[in-house]
Amino acid sequence: MDIQISQSFLKDTLQKLVQINSVNPDLDSHAPGEQEIGSLIARILEDLGLEPEVETLKPGRVNVTAVVKGSSNGRSLMINGHMDTVGVGNMKEPFSGAVSDGRLYGRGAMDMKGGLAAALSMVKALMDNHIQLAGDLVLAFVADEEYASTGTERLVERYQTDAAIVTEPTGLDICTAHKGFGLFEFTTTGRAAHGSQPEEGIDANKHMGWIMRELDQMSRKLEAVSPHALLGVPSLHFPVIKGGTEPFTYAEKCRMKVERRTLPGEKKKEMLSELTAVIRRLSEQSDTFQAEVKPILWRNAYEIDQKNQIVTALIDSVKEATGRAPSYIGHPWWEDSGLLAEAGMDTVIIGPKGSGLHTKEEWVDIRSVKDLAQILVQAALNFCT
Ligand SMILES: [Zn+2]
Repeated sequence: MDIQISQSFLKDTLQKLVQINSVNPDLDSHAPGEQEIGSLIARILEDLGLEPEVETLKPGRVNVTAVVKGSSNGRSLMINGHMDTVGVGNMKEPFSGAVSDGRLYGRGAMDMKGGLAAALSMVKALMDNHIQLAGDLVLAFVADEEYASTGTERLVERYQTDAAIVTEPTGLDICTAHKGFGLFEFTTTGRAAHGSQPEEGIDANKHMGWIMRELDQMSRKLEAVSPHALLGVPSLHFPVIKGGTEPFTYAEKCRMKVERRTLPGEKKKEMLSELTAVIRRLSEQSDTFQAEVKPILWRNAYEIDQKNQIVTALIDSVKEATGRAPSYIGHPWWEDSGLLAEAGMDTVIIGPKGSGLHTKEEWVDIRSVKDLAQILVQAALNFCT
């Protein structure tokens, strides 16, 4: 079936989405969040004949959803994309939406308003051509992926589909795995004393150094594990350390954050017991060593079997829509796909080409957004049967 994507609708929609500031206010306290962009998306969905729902998570923060009802009990599919962006930093014209050489520029053009415009263009093509899918199609435009993913967390409480496609940028390749992460905080406790009185003082900073030495060895072992085919090896680093109060005084407290990037299958509980074992070992070596570790944030890594039906349906769709066989890729960063997969939905990631993710010049390749829309149409036809 030849279903055309409207080039003018796609470009116009993409431009409008980029021209709205939807920076995540948890990353920049002056930023507006998703209210305005959510209203625009809801209006577009209404114009296409759907009944969108705008759900307020908290003031200024919304999810927008709409369901294209299937005709029978076919397999259901969700298209998921986040409306928020990272901050604009020192970008010159973050919301210009300027077009040049087939590229559209602005904060969020690639991450991921290109993916949102493709989803809306897909719906338009289905509605304009009166395509009736057998299974439900759920369109989900969510808040807060760039900070705490409260949008998709709320979404999965309300919607369950057999499969989900997240339209984060992949250069039209198929992302079937991404890393997870854990953030932990170590605290060492010493005893404050004047620097001239070593018999009184216990140095919390020195004791944190002992922990760092152990974790550094752990990190070297991680570099040597056999690499995941798409994700490579896990990693560990020390993003923040704060210890002591002033010169000439033994440090009473030291706090350190440790970030661990994980591979599929690594679990929070095991990680925490590995870190707790470090403290136990060091405590056995010194009477004055006192420390604790607590988890701050944890997100599981994600992976889907490349033989899974949504993956094979999407591979076929890319070939049918573009004539090209996509590659499998992995993303080193975490995405909402992790939450969708944990909620029981078979999830895969495909999105447009572009450049400048989180940097001062971001753009998306318009042609690839159109290809993505065509791929999504094909994927709905192939999967929602
Ligand atoms: Zn993103």
